[in-house]
Amino acid sequence: MTAGQISDGAQELDAPVPQPLHPVTEARLGLLMRRGFDEGAAIDLAHRLAARDGDLDDRRLCVECSRLQRDGVCFAARMQWMPGVSQFLTPLPTTFQRCSFFDSALKA
Ligand code: SF4
Repeated sequence: MTAGQISDGAQELDAPVPQPLHPVTEARLGLLMRRGFDEGAAIDLAHRLAARDGDLDDRRLCVECSRLQRDGVCFAARMQWMPGVSQFLTPLPTTFQRCSFFDSALKA
């Protein structure tokens, strides 16, 4: 707006209105941030998870799993539930994979 123009408030109406997050996305963001991701990284990862779901891809991230411990070690491995796997396994937390020991950290 230049000097002398009168605002009719239309600019304010054109401003984007924040949309409420889907409950699953909101829960994921909370989980990811509790697990140490900053907000931007958590949002990026939540988008990747939503895209995965949209593709009906059944792979998971260890960071979604209740068995991933704070020190990065997998609890299932530590308990030696995984034959042939070191009990000090530190899986890649943000790599999509299939794991028969996956247990969602987000309970319904
Ligand atoms: S149980 Fe599987 S999915 Fe869960 S943290 Fe361990 S390796 Fe990752």
